Amino acid sequence: MKNFGVIGPGAVGSVIAEILLENGQRVHLLGRNAGEVRIEREGQLSEGTLSVEELSSFQTTLDYIFIAVKGTQLSNVLPIVEKLSHENTVTIICQNGYGQLERINMPHTYQAVVYISGQKKDQTITHFRDRKLILPKNKDTLALHQLIERSDLDIQISPNYLYDMWFKLIVNLGINSVTALSRNTARILTNEKVRNLCEALIEEGIKIAHAEGVYFENSTIKDIMDIYDGYPPNMGTSMYYDVLNGNPMEIDYIQGFLYRKSQEHGLNTPHIDTVYSLLVASELG
Ligand code: NAP
Repeated sequence: MKNFGVIGPGAVGSVIAEILLENGQRVHLLGRNAGEVRIEREGQLSEGTLSVEELSSFQTTLDYIFIAVKGTQLSNVLPIVEKLSHENTVTIICQNGYGQLERINMPHTYQAVVYISGQKKDQTITHFRDRKLILPKNKDTLALHQLIERSDLDIQISPNYLYDMWFKLIVNLGINSVTALSRNTARILTNEKVRNLCEALIEEGIKIAHAEGVYFENSTIKDIMDIYDGYPPNMGTSMYYDVLNGNPMEIDYIQGFLYRKSQEHGLNTPHIDTVYSLLVASELG
C-alpha cells in the first residue's frame, strides 16, 4: 500500500486528505502543529475529525505528496518534502499561480490546476464546492489517476494542460487583483471602471500566454467576465482574504509570474505592470 502525505491542513489540503482517507488510502495530513481539523459543508459539520500530524517531526517516507500550503509558504516546506521523498516519490503542487516548478529541483513533481473551493477559519474548513485537480499527462500522473480512480477526487489528466493552467491563472489575475487592491468582494465588479480594468488585465494575460505558445479563443475575455458575473457579490478571493487578515499574498506566482514573463518577451502590459507594482507596494511595511 502506498503512503500519501498531504502538506497543509487548510481548505484544499484537508479536502484532498479526507477524500483519500474515504478511498481507503494510507494518508498523513501534515501541518505546522499536530491537532485536528473538521470539514463543514452546507452548514453541516462532518461527523469525524481529521488528525493532523506535525510536519517538522514527521519521518515516514512518502510515495505521493500533495503540497497544499500557499505559494508564499512553499519554500518553507520544500526541504522537508525532499527529506520525506524517495527517488520515485510523486509530488503534486496544489496551488494557484504558475512558475513554482521552475524553482523546484525534485523529479516527478507536477503542478495541479486546482478546482477545490473552500476556506479555513480556526480549525474548521468550509468546503464550498468542487473536488477537481487537472494534471499534465505522463506516466506518474496516469498511475496516480489509476490508483485513486474510485475516489471522489476528480483527477483529470488533460491533453491541454498548459491551456487549462493559463486559463485559471488569467481568471485569478483579474478578480484577485481588483478585490485585493479595492479591499472589496466580487461586488466591486458592478463598477464600470473596475470591469474595464479586469478586461484589460485579461487581455494582457492572453497576450503573454500567446507569447508562451498558449492560444485562447476570441471569446475568452467575455467568457472570463461571465465567470466573474456568476460569483456571489459577497464572495471574496484568496488575495482579498489575505490582505484583510494581514497575510502575505500569492503575488509572486500570479501577477509577479506574468510580469516576469511579459518582461522576458518584451511585451507592453501596462495594466499588469501597474497592478503588480501596487500589490507589491501594498505589502511593504
Ligand atoms: P489555507 O487554507 O491557508 O491552507 C494552507 C495550510 O497550510 C494552512 O493550514 C497552514 O497552516 C498550512 N501551512 C502553512 N505553512 C506550513 C508549514 N510550514 N508546514 C505545514 N503546514 C503549513 O490555503 P488554501 O486555501 O488551502 O490554499 C492552498 C493553495 O490552493 C493556494 O495556492 C491557493 O491559492 C490554492 N487554491 C485555493 C482555493 C480555495 O478555495 N481555498 C481554490 C483554488 C486554489 P496554518 O493554518 O497554521 O497557517
